[in-house]
Amino acid sequence: MKRIALLGSTGSIGTSTLDVVEQHPESFSVVALAAGTNVEVLAEQVKKFRPQLVSVGTEEAAFALRGLLGSEAKPEIAVGAEGLEQVARHPEANFVMTAVVGSVGVAPTLAAIEEGKTIGLANKETLVSAGPVVMKAAKEKGVQIIPVDSEHSAIFQCLQGERREDVSKVIITASGGSFRHLTRDELANVTLEQALAHPNWNMGAKITIDSATMMNKGLEVIEAHWLFDLPYKQIDTILHYESIIHSMVEFKDSAVMAQLGTPDMRVPIQYALSYPTRMPLQTEPLNLVKLGTLHFAVMDFERYPLLQLAYECGKAGGTYTAVLNAANEVAVDLFLKGSIGFLAIEQIVRKICDAHKGIANPTLEEIFAADQWARSQARAFVNNG
Ligand code: NDP
Ligand code: MG
Repeated sequence: MKRIALLGSTGSIGTSTLDVVEQHPESFSVVALAAGTNVEVLAEQVKKFRPQLVSVGTEEAAFALRGLLGSEAKPEIAVGAEGLEQVARHPEANFVMTAVVGSVGVAPTLAAIEEGKTIGLANKETLVSAGPVVMKAAKEKGVQIIPVDSEHSAIFQCLQGERREDVSKVIITASGGSFRHLTRDELANVTLEQALAHPNWNMGAKITIDSATMMNKGLEVIEAHWLFDLPYKQIDTILHYESIIHSMVEFKDSAVMAQLGTPDMRVPIQYALSYPTRMPLQTEPLNLVKLGTLHFAVMDFERYPLLQLAYECGKAGGTYTAVLNAANEVAVDLFLKGSIGFLAIEQIVRKICDAHKGIANPTLEEIFAADQWARSQARAFVNNG
């Protein structure tokens, strides 16, 4: 029985995770939930899944949640960063699904590792920000981090039964996001609404914007570096418009393994939960005959400079990826609020990474300090025009 603590339950990955849980009540149960401020959705989840502990982002949200629950369900309610960590450490949980968005995921993920819980990792920003610290902690504790991001789940599935030294490279596929048919000149005046319309996946706002800038692929390259212990020269990206091949592994005999499926995050979510076995899942099966053709194109680093920058920061190592991630989080947030244009995201992130004086082999405190520095720089950049 997987007893799950779910961080980010009201989001896109969080609700899909609960959908998977509902399909297998004999194998999965929910013991703790954490969300931000969407208490309406959270209250329904609490009524249905009856967790023992729930955490919300603010005191106001906690008050509102109590009101919505009435006398029907009375879980313990915790608040803020402490609450998130409490959920991650819940003594009854043996599996922690980290599906919050942003580097706020680092601390609870480390807490869950400390408690020896298996991690289902959707929150890619955790490894981008604090990869060396998180992987070291997991290794020391003997904790397994199972990827949920579809590309990394695909690679993980292709690697089952294979020897690490037989891998020549991994090939991460990218749909190209909302603006894949636009030139760079045409990007200057795109709107938020256009950016939020992803062609293949229905996801949270931040990752949808990251897909449009290709930063998402940059974050995934860094995530793959940490998850699979591969140098950056063995991590390739390729454009694949249909998101049917979720990623590939090429071996030294030139054999290539790929994992395919209709784009549905419940597949990698369930695989993380059921690993190393598989379970049935109600989803649309892949119909290659109906699709007819799959399309591919070479990745264009000039068209997508944030992917180029992610490789640069990844290779530079140390605190550079924490800075890359934090600057991007703030820039995307500013774009979502309408404070900056689409192309300003990459300009801000590039400027801040260039200005950063990196620290090699950073401690967690140094990573958090670099993250905070990058956030204040990104905000100042906007305030100063
Ligand atoms: P969403 O924006 O849909 O959901 C984010 C969740 O995190 C919400 O439940 C939100 O709560 C919660 N949250 C945000 N900030 C806090 C906080 N400070 N404390 C507690 N909870 C918080 O994001 P997604 O589900 O799309 O993505 C989640 C993660 O998974 C991201 O790292 C993303 O990159 C990754 N991912 C997502 C995929 C997808 O298909 N969506 C695919 C692959 C990876 P609330 O809304 O209640 O405020
Ligand atoms: Mg992905």
